[in-house]
Amino acid sequence: MGWTEKQLRRIHAQGLFRSLKTIEQKSGTRIVIFGKRLVNFCSNDYLGLANDPRVKKAGADAIQKWGAGAAASRLVSGNFSLHLELEQGLAGFKGAQAGLLFSSGYLANIGAIPALVDQDDQIFSDQMNHASLIDACRLSKAKIKIFPHSDLSALNKMLSGANRRARKLIVAEGIYSMDGDLAPLPEILELAEKFGAMVYLDEAHSTGVIGKKGKGALEYFGIKGFPQNLVLMGTLSKALAGQGGFICGPKSLRELLINRSRAFIFSTGLNPAAAASALKSLEIIEQEPELVARLQDHIAFARKCLKGIGLKIGSGPSPILPIVLRDPARTLKASQNLFRKGFFVQPIRPPSVPSGTSRLRITVCAAHSRKEIERLAETLSEVL
Ligand SMILES: *Cc1c(COP(=O)(O)O)cnc(C)c1O
Repeated sequence: MGWTEKQLRRIHAQGLFRSLKTIEQKSGTRIVIFGKRLVNFCSNDYLGLANDPRVKKAGADAIQKWGAGAAASRLVSGNFSLHLELEQGLAGFKGAQAGLLFSSGYLANIGAIPALVDQDDQIFSDQMNHASLIDACRLSKAKIKIFPHSDLSALNKMLSGANRRARKLIVAEGIYSMDGDLAPLPEILELAEKFGAMVYLDEAHSTGVIGKKGKGALEYFGIKGFPQNLVLMGTLSKALAGQGGFICGPKSLRELLINRSRAFIFSTGLNPAAAASALKSLEIIEQEPELVARLQDHIAFARKCLKGIGLKIGSGPSPILPIVLRDPARTLKASQNLFRKGFFVQPIRPPSVPSGTSRLRITVCAAHSRKEIERLAETLSEVL
């Protein structure tokens, strides 16, 4: 086992060692770790639905009705009407023709992209894309070009230099998971149209979060109708408070993935509890857009509080607020000090972010109180 220890020593020496923090108790935004009560400011349960009694009951009822697991892949005997109901619900929510579920957002990405493009094709991937997108692109064997983050003129140049006959897939995120900024979707779609490319947009953090009704990037940018050259991906595990991933687009896309996506074909159908919880969350979001409004109020308030203590924080609808401290050791220390004072904010260090950009990454949720947000800002001003 010498080789594992050697690698670990290197990780330690770089100040990049990670270990799991165990949550011993949990109730909404309040958690207990090492017996210490904390307010959680690094959850992706943006709308607080993971703790909603209606959502929890829907999950529990689904286990009673369908069993604890799907017990087979969808193409064998694990395809339940519950799955179809959720797929149709998600497609309707996103304004697409069809949807397809995967067992996680990670699997949706590594399942969909290699089913769409292969070694004869070209991928144009934003520099800040999530690890699951990077892995998906690699797995596809397509030629990968990485464009500087949201740099449209660089993307334009790459596309115009690309092989005309190759299929081209542009890969971006609705809200970038580490910087919390939005992809310029209308302009990306325009470029794609100009060069006959497809756009693959990961909406893990924008679903349930942006747009008046929480529908995501298309609603936020006021894009009418579902663009023909768009594939949308999302996860059930963030604002939708379940677990799993999904793809939305034309019917033919769904059929293609059912036939070609290895992560779909060779993995058990989504767990009934996860599917039913997400379906209930979706229903709640559609009936109670005020939940999205509350989240957006909190985001604006948090930005104001953090600016108030002199931090450089922009405006915008994203719940992800990075405080870049650059040095990994300093970031770790700040996180530990926050912990001591009752706030759980994880330090994000390489390889999750580029070296020299270590940060505290705060996520704001609808279930936080204004008081909690205010106190976080006060405490930050003491520990930074
Ligand atoms: C969280 C996340 C995923 C993965 O989703 P899971 O359902 O957690 O597997 C994919 N893409 C992005 C951008 C994410 O932030």
